[in-house]
Amino acid sequence: MSILRDGTHFRACNLCEAICGLKITISGGRVTDLRGDSDDPLSRGAICPKGTALIDLHADPDRLRSPHIRTQSGWQTRDWDDAFDIAVNGLREVIATYSPDAVAFYVGNPTVHNSGTLLGWSALLRAIGTTQRYSATSVDQLPHHVAAQAMLGHHFLLPIPDIDRTDFFFVLGANPIASNGSLMTAPGMRERLRGLQTRGGRLVVIDPRRTETAAIADEHHFITPGTDALLLLAMLHVILTEQLADLGRLADHTDGLETLKHLVADFSPHSVSARCGIHAEHIVRLARSFAGANHAVAYGRMGLSTQAFGGLCQWLIIVLNSVTGNLDEPGGAMFTEPAFDLVRMSRSRPPVRRSRVRGLLEFDGEFPVATLADEILTPGPGQIRALITIAGNPVLSTPNGTRLDEALATLDFMLSIDPYRNETTRHAHVILPPAVGLETEHYDAVFHHFAVRNTARINDPVAILDEDQRYDYQIFAALSQRLGASASPTPMQRIDAALAAGPRATSLAELRTHEHGVDYGPLRSVFPERLCTEGKRINLTPPAITSDLSRLASQHEQSDALLLIGRRQLRSNNSWMHNTPRLMRGADRCTILMNPDDAADRMLSEGELVDIATENGCVTVPLEVSSDMKPGVVCLPHGFGHDRDGIQLSVATEKPGASYNDLTGGDTIDTLTGNAALNGIPVRVTRASGQPSVSNPATDERQHDLAR
Ligand code: SF4
Repeated sequence: MSILRDGTHFRACNLCEAICGLKITISGGRVTDLRGDSDDPLSRGAICPKGTALIDLHADPDRLRSPHIRTQSGWQTRDWDDAFDIAVNGLREVIATYSPDAVAFYVGNPTVHNSGTLLGWSALLRAIGTTQRYSATSVDQLPHHVAAQAMLGHHFLLPIPDIDRTDFFFVLGANPIASNGSLMTAPGMRERLRGLQTRGGRLVVIDPRRTETAAIADEHHFITPGTDALLLLAMLHVILTEQLADLGRLADHTDGLETLKHLVADFSPHSVSARCGIHAEHIVRLARSFAGANHAVAYGRMGLSTQAFGGLCQWLIIVLNSVTGNLDEPGGAMFTEPAFDLVRMSRSRPPVRRSRVRGLLEFDGEFPVATLADEILTPGPGQIRALITIAGNPVLSTPNGTRLDEALATLDFMLSIDPYRNETTRHAHVILPPAVGLETEHYDAVFHHFAVRNTARINDPVAILDEDQRYDYQIFAALSQRLGASASPTPMQRIDAALAAGPRATSLAELRTHEHGVDYGPLRSVFPERLCTEGKRINLTPPAITSDLSRLASQHEQSDALLLIGRRQLRSNNSWMHNTPRLMRGADRCTILMNPDDAADRMLSEGELVDIATENGCVTVPLEVSSDMKPGVVCLPHGFGHDRDGIQLSVATEKPGASYNDLTGGDTIDTLTGNAALNGIPVRVTRASGQPSVSNPATDERQHDLAR
């Protein structure tokens, strides 16, 4: 195991998007204190319970530290040279027998939290020469990228709520108290929201669940899952028909306002009210107060992105901010000027290719992960025969996990660069585990880009690696060079070059002189200069997106089935934090939430096991009856389901829970963007087979009422 260096260390936590600064004290090779770094200019001392999980991650006996090879007699450890040879031979055989495109990549969410992985893996992609790429993007934020590219010219030009200066924070399908911001790096969210309310601002939340954020909001409205686009269209209808629109400074740089008026004409508050489940007068009032606020910002996240109309939702969020004069203005939706500038460094290309089996459009060179199982299981030219997974667990985190699980077992060869043997990597022939967490050098190339303040910091490793360990980029370099590629610059060399060429003209050496990070100040207005569209103009009504309005208009009301939505939990982050003892303490968190009336209708009681069923599968979890749920909607966290054979996650398997994605199907996607539509899925919920009925006073009373 690597040895922790004694002393006091300052670095940012890289477990989630919030990148909180940490102060870590180590004595005798043990962490004796870990707390928020009060001098970090972005996080200002904030930390969440997950931060201390870095210690668990470092010490976790289940974490792999040397290569593992799956053999007929079980898993065996090998030295790195042997393992690299076995991995490269497996890949070469598939390439020689079929083609480079028979090898696919799946890149998981932790990749963007590790600069060595983020900037190292493409060397292997180029060495193989495949065009088959999949990632967690298409079960997450792809609609944000599609909208930004179509309207602003670059998929990384994402609007960030200027939460510290706004007067009206309008949150849809997001729970920033639990997430500390997502595509809005904002550590210490509770304090920031308290600041908003203390200065007289308003927090308004739209969500089918009274979330932790909704609980402290000034106003919360339940909404029917999947109808947020209708609500936003109706608000725009009010703003445009009542002539409340004011594009402000950017009016002369914006096209499409007249077209927009026509597009929203049919979506009056009265016409959408029943489907959204929100009274028309509330919609009118929300629209007027948003337009009338001095500084307002609308923000929508997973509940909007991972639904059937995710692309429309994210487009409408930008439109709402724009027509009210809140785009690129203090207190509105702003844009960062990060030292490591992904907008300057990359081009945004319109999609061209379609996937082989289902004809789904690519985005930025990637196909939607919802079709990965199709591409593995469907015979014919171009079939995927080998898979490389990088820091990912798509069996739990992508649609139709059961089918993908089966598909992975059919591959000719699978290589995983991952520190764990999890539900996905158990299928690998070779697992190459990189150093992680406190062991790594890290510059956050992604989340400074999405932060509510312009800052930068470099993290030095806190541990000295065991000689048998390897960094992620060393693994990618070794594999790609064995495949014939020449040596590439290291990730830190690439970051240093990009910092020098970036808007701050800085360097790693300069950043290292600021142990708490560098503060470049609050976000500034950067348009039209930073726009990447032709003529530096904002397109309010890109036809590639507005053409999807007909699909929304023709969508029929759901049946009376319950609709399933996901939930974010403070002590969890996707599937990969369930093996840390201090985060898994306490009651089982993989429960389904259901409104008391829905429970009574089904004669179900708190705590009993229920079956949740869709046409794709059935899972069994305990029931939590909660008036925080909108009637007709039930809620389950994702990332659980640690009961499959062959995994090495001893803590997670004690409370395995059930996988949300054993219920989802590969065909439930937002057809505009290709993003998975994980929210708003019709489900049946019944008492689990073999469970006795449990007496419930609330149920009994309601049954009695019904009988009367
Ligand atoms: S919110 Fe928690 S997990 Fe996220 S960066 Fe901060 S301490 Fe780490």
